[in-house]
Amino acid sequence: MAYSYDDQNIFAKILRGEIPNSTVLETEHSLAFRDIQPQAPTHVLVIPKGPYVCFDHFAQAASDAEIVDYVRAVGEVCKMEGLEADGFRLIANAGRDGVQEVPHLHVHILAGRPLGRMLS
Ligand code: 5GP
Repeated sequence: MAYSYDDQNIFAKILRGEIPNSTVLETEHSLAFRDIQPQAPTHVLVIPKGPYVCFDHFAQAASDAEIVDYVRAVGEVCKMEGLEADGFRLIANAGRDGVQEVPHLHVHILAGRPLGRMLS
């Protein structure tokens, strides 16, 4: 599938500095910031700076440097937020069935309370 990126999405506006955010971490290729409607005591979104719609778009089109930076940024946020002891959940919604609201790849990092079973 050929993805088409909408540069008017809210995270593109955050990346351009048009909308404020609560930044947790910024790296060369990635940005992590707190979700505006947190679903857990820790709820951080990690996005690549490049124009990627969702995870498979990113995996197919991003450079190795972007991918390494992004994965390490997710890990760094987990470390910075002290999530190793009690654990956390990563979620990356995609498309209609994944109920993705914002069409710019983001991984949710959720932690700070028991999150319940997702798959059964
Ligand atoms: P999705 O359903 O696309 O996986 O999740 C999108 C997330 O983005 C939601 O958790 C929502 O609360 C968050 N969000 C939407 N608009 C904004 C915003 O302007 N700023 C921040 N920080 N988060 C947002």
